[in-house]
Amino acid sequence: MKIHEYQGKELLRKFQVPVPEGDVAGTIKEARQVAEELGEGPFVVKAQIHAGGRGKGGGIKTAATPEEVEQVAGQILEMTLVTPQTGPEGRLVNRVLVEKAQEIARELYLGIVVDRSLGRPVIMMSAAGGMEIEEVAARSPELIIKEAVDPVTGCLPYQARNLAFGVGLDPHLIRAATSFIENLYKMFVALDCSLAEINPLVVTRDGALLALDAKINLDDNALFRHHDLAALEDPAEMDPLEHEARKHHLNYIRLSGNVGAMVNGAGLAMATMDLIKAAGAEPANFLDVGGGASQEMVANGFRIILADPNVKGVLINIFGGILRCDVLANGVVEAVKQVDVKVPIIIRLEGTNVEQGREILQHSGLKFTVAADMLDAAQKVAALVQ
Ligand code: ADP
Ligand code: MG
Repeated sequence: MKIHEYQGKELLRKFQVPVPEGDVAGTIKEARQVAEELGEGPFVVKAQIHAGGRGKGGGIKTAATPEEVEQVAGQILEMTLVTPQTGPEGRLVNRVLVEKAQEIARELYLGIVVDRSLGRPVIMMSAAGGMEIEEVAARSPELIIKEAVDPVTGCLPYQARNLAFGVGLDPHLIRAATSFIENLYKMFVALDCSLAEINPLVVTRDGALLALDAKINLDDNALFRHHDLAALEDPAEMDPLEHEARKHHLNYIRLSGNVGAMVNGAGLAMATMDLIKAAGAEPANFLDVGGGASQEMVANGFRIILADPNVKGVLINIFGGILRCDVLANGVVEAVKQVDVKVPIIIRLEGTNVEQGREILQHSGLKFTVAADMLDAAQKVAALVQ
């Protein structure tokens, strides 16, 4: 799960990682009020969207006075911000972060991720702050200093020192840098983060270290033990159909093609998507209704697939094991009662209670084509959506 910069900075504060003073605002009046409370300018007004590269897209602006903050916030709020990370459609800005502008002497990079091949969190630091780390890794990998952390011991003082000296920090900043790194690591572990990236981490003109940006991703699979963090989710940043699917505990990911696919089991769903592509069409979604899906979940899944206007045909590919074919069929019938099906449906059904399932579908009034096997199903649906 992604969260906004302002939310990430609030979490950093709790773990004693220094961030600039500031607060979030949803309206221009609130933005001005935040600036007034911060005291003397200059200020920076930052668009809050789940994408980086905001500076280049006009989503970060400076302002000298609270009046100017109000003006600038008026330009940023409700703009559709396009950055290299948003795609051409951009993102609507609903909130801004107003904070004190810092005088920057140096910009560094600090990030923590889980390295799956090492099976450990890895802390990375680089003197090339402000640049995408992927770009630094491709162009000048020698600029990235890495420390893999043993989760049993946590980040050891010598590792934090290696990182701080490695990026050439002045000796008088080493102590501040090591506690910055150690506290960020503590947060990474305590909150079950999958990414904690501070880019840039700055040295200010008066010699302080500050997290100027914060990109914190949380591990979805650990959210059950952080109810307070789950509340940080911003539905406005999510695809509305994905958001709807999540409410019904469905694994649904929207894609750009036009063949809707309703499948049980992630492996079968992947194989189905491969076959759709091999047949010359593009999947409109990944949907795994799950092994033990109820009739209601099937109905919701079908409804969500059909709600995508790009969908020109639907392939239902079910291998009935724990999810019986009659339950699937009843779910489809349930969904068909609620929505008007205007696109062709191809069904490949096998497994437990397949005869019953077919019979239910036959009497449902739903028009559909039965496929002999998976390949046939993919070819039939591909031919129909061309
Ligand atoms: P993004 O990664 O989306 O472009 P950042 O938060 O990294 O956004 O900000 C981009 C740049 O804007 C920074 O590298 C920095 O130069 C400037 N900036 C951001 N926040 C401040 C601030 N509080 N004071 C001064 N400059 C800032
Ligand atoms: Mg940044």
